[in-house]
Order: sequence, then structure tokens, then C-alpha cells
Amino acid sequence: MLKDYEFWFVVGSQFLYGPEVLETVAKRAQEMTDKLNASGNLPCKLVYKATIKTNQEVTDVVREANYDTRCAGVITWCHTFSPSKMWINGFVDLQKPYCHFATQYNRSIPNEEIDMDFMNLNQAAHGDREHGFLAARLRMPRKVIAGFWEDEDVQKRIGSWMRSAVGVMFSRSLKVMRFGDNMREVAVTEGDKVETQIKLGWQVNTWPVGKLVEEMNAVTDAEIEELMATYRAQYDFATDDLETVKYQAREEIAMKKMMDAEGCRAFSNTFQDLYGMKQLPGLASQHLMAQGYGYGGEGDWKVAAMTAILKAMSEGQNGGTAFMEDYTYNLDPDAEYSLGAHMLEVCPSVAAGKPRIEVHPLGIGGREAPARLVFEGHAGKAIVVSLIDMGGRMRLIVQDIEAVKPILPMPNLPVARVMWKAMPDLTTGVECWIAAGGAHHTVLSYDVTAEQMKDWARMMDIEFVHISKDSTPEKIEEQLFINDLAWKLK
Ligand code: MN
Repeated sequence: MLKDYEFWFVVGSQFLYGPEVLETVAKRAQEMTDKLNASGNLPCKLVYKATIKTNQEVTDVVREANYDTRCAGVITWCHTFSPSKMWINGFVDLQKPYCHFATQYNRSIPNEEIDMDFMNLNQAAHGDREHGFLAARLRMPRKVIAGFWEDEDVQKRIGSWMRSAVGVMFSRSLKVMRFGDNMREVAVTEGDKVETQIKLGWQVNTWPVGKLVEEMNAVTDAEIEELMATYRAQYDFATDDLETVKYQAREEIAMKKMMDAEGCRAFSNTFQDLYGMKQLPGLASQHLMAQGYGYGGEGDWKVAAMTAILKAMSEGQNGGTAFMEDYTYNLDPDAEYSLGAHMLEVCPSVAAGKPRIEVHPLGIGGREAPARLVFEGHAGKAIVVSLIDMGGRMRLIVQDIEAVKPILPMPNLPVARVMWKAMPDLTTGVECWIAAGGAHHTVLSYDVTAEQMKDWARMMDIEFVHISKDSTPEKIEEQLFINDLAWKLK
């Protein structure tokens, strides 16, 4: 999917310096584009689109960008000075993600060579300030990246922003399939679906569980055998109860068919509405997540959609992204950790080793013991993400975490588990998270960064709260208070 998108490089200039300068600008912009594409640091193709000299040229390129479904964003840079009033009419209509790349063609100031001709041609420091003012004046949601274009870390920052922009494009066309409603009486998993569609683009709709059961009954033995072969190739079988595993395969095939028929990339279900189903989907949901579908338990369509979005943003990376739930703590002073899991549905993309298929009773829901994947999550830096509905606006909360190999084997825990240290430390992190209203359900990702989620939230025009190593409850509470005022005025 990343390969389906491209970003347009639009370079600012003007007629003042004569045709020779404009030719040089265009030639260099193409050269920079080619080298950036060849660097391997951009997940999507960059296309040099235009050197802007007039109001009409900006308006035309913006119109084209808005309507071209391949274009996931516009990246601008001012090689020379480019008077920015001519960018106004175009910029006010821009509907695609926007990055201001403040760079220059040359790394160093050439001591002998520098004269007024050089200064006229190479004045990004001047031009990018004029350009930056206009975007600030227009209150455009933008990413500003400054640095030399051939530096790897600068290229990677552009690449990282591209993934956030693809997350925006993915979000705007995302469809979520709900099987059953929200779990009875649960608050944080609720939300305004109309407001969410206006703001984030998600089409969240419901399909009857009875229809899913019909689809399940239509699945053939051959289809089930084919999926069983995939399970055997990817997972260890720690059960002899093949019929139970096959039932999960039947559920997975039916859910996938229904989602694909509707173009849905995420789904939610609830153990409280499994009418006509023998097992809560466990392995089925886990293997669908491994294929990129978002999932939320207990009817949590917000976390289902966010899981799909973070998976789309991190396509091709291999740290893993999973639906997660905070379950219980280890509060020993020298080993403070959160234990995350779910009753079944943790994505195996975060597994440290080969997941095992096991069958155990569920304890709730009154159905047969379901097959599920059991594994430990791997160690590494990660984030947890929660989207909540504050009434009138959405708030995205991101916390930095450090996952560890679980400090206990927990041999009788029959589900996948991830153990981590929340930033800045467990209890302060919990205080910040609870102050912000973050849910028990999250998306845990080793690939997506807090900066990427901040960029995404800015482009989607929603509130963003980041709990990091520098957070204190006082600072978070102050930020929440100011945010509340600001968002009431917006
Ligand atoms: Mn849950």
C-alpha cells in the first residue's frame, strides 16, 4: 500500500533572477528527488512536480494534488526567495498533508566561489522564512523538517513523516466492520461515530452476527484445510484438539470474506454477542491482525481503527503492532512493570518467538474453549496509543514504553502477554495516563513513534497528549487544562 502513494516535491522560486537560475533550480530539484528516492530512506516515491513562480502555478498544483488519489502529500522547499503571497490561494485549498522541508542544495558555504549570484540562487535561509510565515499565518497543519537533504537522519525524518501522511490517507478511507455493539455499560470504548467520520474519515458500521454465522456455515472443508496449512507453517500446535482450531479457521475465513467484500480493514466484536457461534474468535482474530486488519475487543471500534492505521503506517517494518490491554501490575520497587494481554486477541506480530496454538476455557461468555495463540512479546522501545472521545473532540494519548522479556514465565496464564515499563516510571506514568483519561485498550507498536502519532494527530486536527520520560503529573494536568480551554475556543 505504501507503494501506491507518492509525494510531490514543489519548489519555490520567482522570475526575478532570470531563466538561467530557474533552469538550475529545476535541474537541482530533480537531482535531489532522484537521490532521495535512491537513498532507500523514503517509504514512498517522491515526485518533483514544479518550480513555482506564479500564483496560478501554486493553485494548479494544489488542485491536482487534491484530486490525485496517489498523492499523499506535498513537500515544499524554497531554493531561492519565493514571495509567499502568491502561495496563498493555493495553500488555502490544500487538502493533502503538508511538509515544509527547510534545506539547501549545498552543504557548505563556498569560501572562494560565494558572490551575489551565488547568494541569489542559494537563499533557502531567506526563502524558507518567508514561506514559513505564510503557513504560520494560515495556521496550516504542517511538519517542518530542517537539515541537509543528503544526511541520512534528515532523509529518515522525511520518510517517517511520509508514513504519518499515509496514515492520514488510510484513515480518510477506512471502513470498520462491527459485529455486535459496545460491551454493556463500558464508557471509554464508546464514541461519536458521526463526529469521528467528519474528523477522521472512518466509516464505522455494523453487520449482524447472524450474517457472520451464515458465512461461517458456507465455508468449505477445502478452505479450512488450506488455512490450517498456513497455521501449521507459522505456529506450533500445542493442542491435539484440531476441531477447535478448525473452528477458528472457519471464523477467520468468514470474517475475512465479509470484510473484503465491504472493503473493511478493521473489525470489532464482543463476547457478549456471539449468537450462533461456538467460540469467541481468538486465533482467528490474531491471524487477521497479523495480516494487517485492525481489531478491537468488546466492541471497541476506535482501537480497532487505530490498530489498522498504525499497521498501515508501519507497513514493511518488523517490530510489530498489536491491539493491547493493560491488565495487571508488578509493583515490586526494583521491578515495576505493566503486564499487558487480552482475553485472547493479541497480534502475533509482536511475538519474541514462534507462537503456540493452545486451547483453554475462557471463563466468561459461556461458549466453548477457544483456540488462541500464546506467546511472549519481545523486548524493545515502543509506544501505547489510545484514542478517546472527550465529547465534542477526540484526544489521542501516546505513552512511551520500554518492553522487556516478561520477568516471570507465568506458566498458567493461557494468553499472549507483553511486559513493559511505562515512562517516566510505572506509577508516575499511570498517574499521567489516568489523568489524561487513557483507555485500558491501546495499540502497542514497536515501529510507530510518538512523533509520527503527533504528526498524524496534527494533520487530523485532534488533541494530542504525549507521556514521555520528561512527563510529570503536574505538567500533564496543566497541559490538559490548557488544551481544554483551547479546544473549546477552536
Ligand atoms: Mn478488552
